[in-house]
Amino acid sequence: MEGHQKKIETQLLIIGGGATGAGIFRDAAKRGISTVLVEKKDFATGTSGRNHGLLHSGARYAVKDPVSAKECITENTILKKIASSVVEDTGGFFIALDDSDLGYSELLIPALGKSGIAHEEVTLESARRDEPHLHSGVKRIIRVPDGSVDPFRLAIMNIKDGEAHGQTAMNYTEVVDSRIHEGAIEWVKVINHFNNEEILIYPEFVVNASGPWADVTAGRLYATMKMKPSMGVMVILDHRVVNHVINRMRMPADGDIIVPGDTVSIIGTTSRPVEYHELDQLKATPEEIYRMIQDAEKLVPRFATSRMLRHYSGARPLPDVGKSGREVSRNFLIKDHGQENEPRNLFSITGGKLMTYRQMAEKMTDIIATRLGNQNNCRTATDELPPIKKSKIKIPDILKNNYGIQQGYQRQGDSFLEKIHGKKDTFLVCECEMITNAEIEYVLETNNIKKLTDIRRRTRLGMGPCQGTLCSVRTMEISGIKERPFGEKETMLRDFTQERWRGVRHVLWGDTLRNEEFALWLYSGIFGWKAEK
Ligand SMILES: Cc1cc2nc3c(=O)[nH]c(=O)nc-3n(C[C@H](O)[C@H](O)[C@H](O)COP(=O)(O)OP(=O)(O)OC[C@H]3O[C@@H](n4cnc5c(N)ncnc54)[C@H](O)[C@@H]3O)c2cc1C
Repeated sequence: MEGHQKKIETQLLIIGGGATGAGIFRDAAKRGISTVLVEKKDFATGTSGRNHGLLHSGARYAVKDPVSAKECITENTILKKIASSVVEDTGGFFIALDDSDLGYSELLIPALGKSGIAHEEVTLESARRDEPHLHSGVKRIIRVPDGSVDPFRLAIMNIKDGEAHGQTAMNYTEVVDSRIHEGAIEWVKVINHFNNEEILIYPEFVVNASGPWADVTAGRLYATMKMKPSMGVMVILDHRVVNHVINRMRMPADGDIIVPGDTVSIIGTTSRPVEYHELDQLKATPEEIYRMIQDAEKLVPRFATSRMLRHYSGARPLPDVGKSGREVSRNFLIKDHGQENEPRNLFSITGGKLMTYRQMAEKMTDIIATRLGNQNNCRTATDELPPIKKSKIKIPDILKNNYGIQQGYQRQGDSFLEKIHGKKDTFLVCECEMITNAEIEYVLETNNIKKLTDIRRRTRLGMGPCQGTLCSVRTMEISGIKERPFGEKETMLRDFTQERWRGVRHVLWGDTLRNEEFALWLYSGIFGWKAEK
């Protein structure tokens, strides 16, 4: 209902701040389309923040899904150029452990050639020079151009670039209702979950990029988008046991990928259908987690004695095409709702992968631009994200040997350097990920931070071996937070530790258990917290 709400007019409204929505936001903004993006939680808290972070070469799909394989290798090459601050060119190994894997290698090698994916045979001896922990009984190894990507910063950098082009992105803002007038969406109502403000957005076009929630969102827009979300579990180890992406040489199955990501290694994953009501609180079973660890040990026996940091789960936004989980192609789908007697200015975009987000965004924005009569070309395949090393400002001499500042520059780009200019001293807040007070101040000032966990997504605070035990408390003393009332700070800290705890509790043994005991002593000493069941 229209009332006293604030009103915004825009050419394009994007619903969902995962990689897909963020990519469309950047693309549209660079073409000069007036755009508003709304995200019900923080950016990249949906599937885009809950995946393996594998920059696929396409090899995983080459045998069964060559369309996806070609999409992957095209985007792999582009992202290594335009997103070097969030992508690591690790390379990947496909490993055969038994005769069945060897049989698969005879299918894989010609399929790699057909999809244009560079590959070479590697001896165990040379592979073990880089990867000493590989199983000694490996029978065959193929090297492919896989890599790893920080999914949080990938999405957030796209959002920031769109904002730098004058457009608006709102986190913690949910689409709850809409009104249809003469066959089109007239307005969409959103609610800001922090101040309960309601806003009516009047868009010319709406893109539903709400991932596995696409059907629920479509319902609020008087449309349908049938989905079949499929959940996958991942386990994080406390350091980089491997430096390449390690894939088992077989048809995609459970527990057959290990990805090195920044300071940790991630094992994954599983596939099982989940219902919509489970999407906001996905729950892995202890059996799924143990199976993951056991499967990974077959590739890298060292995992048997490594410390597990935590586990997490995500839901693949797969459209319902009558198949389930791994049977569904990983290429993407755009639905023009107007073609099916639903609102004529509404599109939904689902499926695909994190690492094909840019291509998905380009196709979607092409359609919107054509409808709007906008003739500007897509520039996201060539323009760097974010600009790095183009700044005329240099790291101040006094901070030149400061590794934390260099890491901050790598993570945040030129604008971080511009902000810290003139700063004389900094200190490390997080030793695991080398994060300084300067970087935290920077994201607090520039990134619409509402919670401690929002800082984590932008800097990796709390993602390393201590899982935030020390740095979360220290962050409370950073000026942007220090001034807030004690109760608010304690709530922020509780949210942060609860979120970490959900992932830690199923891997509580050995050193992980010791770390948690230490965290409990610390928090009970400072805040009087007690252990809860
Ligand atoms: C276990 C697993 C492992 C994977 N591994 C990889 C990998 O290694 N490499 C790879 O490339 N891909 C991988 N993927 C796939 C990839 O993660 C997804 O395809 C991609 O992240 C989907 O992004 P998205 O933006 O479409 O959806 P999401 O990231 O889910 O974004 C949708 C957003 O919409 C928001 N939203 C929902 N409803 C509303 C509403 N009413 N109002 C406002 N906002 C709303 C949600 O909060 C969410 O943030 C993996 C997926 C899974 C599940």
